[in-house]
Amino acid sequence: MTALALMTGVRKVYDTGAVQVEALCGIDLTVEQGDYVAIMGPSGSGKSTLMHIIGCLDVPTSGRYELDGEEVAAMTEKELAEVRNRRLGFVFQSFNLLPSLTAQRNVELPLVYAGVAQAERRERARIALERVGLGERRNHRPGELSGGQQQRVSVARALVTDPALILADEPTGALDSVSTHDILDLFDELNASGRTIVVITHEQEVADRARRTVHIYDGRLTDAPLSAAAGGDAR
Ligand code: ADP
Ligand code: MG
Repeated sequence: MTALALMTGVRKVYDTGAVQVEALCGIDLTVEQGDYVAIMGPSGSGKSTLMHIIGCLDVPTSGRYELDGEEVAAMTEKELAEVRNRRLGFVFQSFNLLPSLTAQRNVELPLVYAGVAQAERRERARIALERVGLGERRNHRPGELSGGQQQRVSVARALVTDPALILADEPTGALDSVSTHDILDLFDELNASGRTIVVITHEQEVADRARRTVHIYDGRLTDAPLSAAAGGDAR
């Protein structure tokens, strides 16, 4: 297998002036192509910080991060923006859709930034919305859709550029249990068809659907939850 994302000794220190917060304290993580990894941890453990680094939205204070064999710290701002736009697809807890745009236009946006011509953009967004089961709703604005449907639009937006890696930060955190199942079923299908997915969550139900889970506590990764050390987890 090929390592898509490779982290070694990644540290992230937030310097807020008065205090320094070490959010990540030496992370080693490999995500292979076709993998489906859940990153679990309590609030404040460093999950979002880790996602921002995997997603090239932020860079490590020290340590090494390679995406598809390329060292991210060596990239220019322009290259980083291009990587985020073309090789990564993001799904956030709060959907992050533009309220004034239809589902169709929201899904087209990453293609606008990528300079794809209008006719192709329309067609690809239409296909992505059909892929998530929302072909009929493509002219609705986010406010006219349920939370679960809005999150499916944002999954379509993440998919439309055909990214190497889909990164989801608490994608079901704002959803009811039915919509949560919809999104998790969708992720299962995407992974079965070869998509690499990293999902950050503090819900066991979400982690249970991934191929494997890593746990983060106070900025450190472990394979097993802390309670397992006391014999709590049989897997
Ligand atoms: P999680 O997503 O697991 O809740 P975060 O990655 O958001 O955790 O935060 C990890 C730690 O880093 C926390 O102690 C948090 O307060 C701190 N932190 C996160 N972002 C910033 C920031 N921009 N400036 C300073 N501290 C931050
Ligand atoms: Mg978070």
